[in-house]
Amino acid sequence: MQDLVPVRGLPEVVDHKPDKAERPARGLSVDEGSGGSAMMKLISEVILSNVTRYGCGGVTLRELDDSGSIVVGDLEIVLTTDAHTIKPIFFPGGDIGSLAASGTLNDVSVMGVKPRAISFSMVVEEGFSKDDLSRIVRSFNGVLEEVGVDLITGDTKVLEKGDIDGVVVTTSAIGVTQKGRIVRDSGIRPGDIIIISGSVGDHGISILSVREGFDFQLETKSDVGPIWEVVEAALEAAGTEGVRAMKDPTRGGLSNALNELAEKSGVGMEVREEEIPIRQDIASAAEMLGVDPLSVTNEGKAIIAVDPELSDDVLAALRRTRRGRDAAIIGRAVADHVGEVVMETKVGGKRLLERPLGDPAPRIC
Ligand code: MG
Repeated sequence: MQDLVPVRGLPEVVDHKPDKAERPARGLSVDEGSGGSAMMKLISEVILSNVTRYGCGGVTLRELDDSGSIVVGDLEIVLTTDAHTIKPIFFPGGDIGSLAASGTLNDVSVMGVKPRAISFSMVVEEGFSKDDLSRIVRSFNGVLEEVGVDLITGDTKVLEKGDIDGVVVTTSAIGVTQKGRIVRDSGIRPGDIIIISGSVGDHGISILSVREGFDFQLETKSDVGPIWEVVEAALEAAGTEGVRAMKDPTRGGLSNALNELAEKSGVGMEVREEEIPIRQDIASAAEMLGVDPLSVTNEGKAIIAVDPELSDDVLAALRRTRRGRDAAIIGRAVADHVGEVVMETKVGGKRLLERPLGDPAPRIC
């Protein structure tokens, strides 16, 4: 990676434009693809500043929501896309196939819309096992069966050995709803209750445990799976009016997602550490790894902000679902400290739950 050219001491005659023209081409760092503040900066500098066609009428690229949308007559069509590059490809609780289906379907689901169809593009390294590829496709299909979604198009390419590491799976998914019935990240109001649909840190901590060789002692497992049943239960209990915002806390974890919701909604948040569900084995592994379970990827969870009058109904409805049985109220939105998430710690202190620079591990999803 090249460093920036030092700007101090340059002769005055140079028409210096430090942000653009004179900055040498710089290689990307893995932090810039890890879902935290570094990636947001990259998206803003490289993508948002260079794209002039970013949508209108629906959810646009500039909103950086879980999906975008377009309006067609009385309908709103939701679309999202995601490339999956996890290492290892097979891991406790799932594989790149279940991840590639869940990741994309969950990003449609948290818009408050049932995913209807998906595409699947595989770029595979020469020599990759055909049996392993079949296994990946079967896992992928298992998720489609659970949600009731069809694979309607795809693409497959094989690159020469060494040109790619194993397999990269890119998926896009769509859903259709009535115009204006989308649940956006920006809908939270002061007083709204913040619910998490289950335990936090499972995916990120399990993958890191496998990489470090801790998994045999601890039997940690990824939570990868589709959350549509959880979202549907919340919508049935509170409607799209009562469900104010939803987000799947993937890269950067719960910390990143709560900060993003608070910023986009223009509210502050107060959460209680004690109420955040973390499995004992995940907490132990996180401690051994020295990694904060609140800052790592979850692949089967939703943060759901709801009208306070309906929060008990929503919580009860979530707990009746298979993937939402450990759902918990973790805090509320407030009018103070806009854009900031304050956590009351287990010992009674208060600290700012900051947005991580990036997820602690690359190739986690
Ligand atoms: Mg998302």
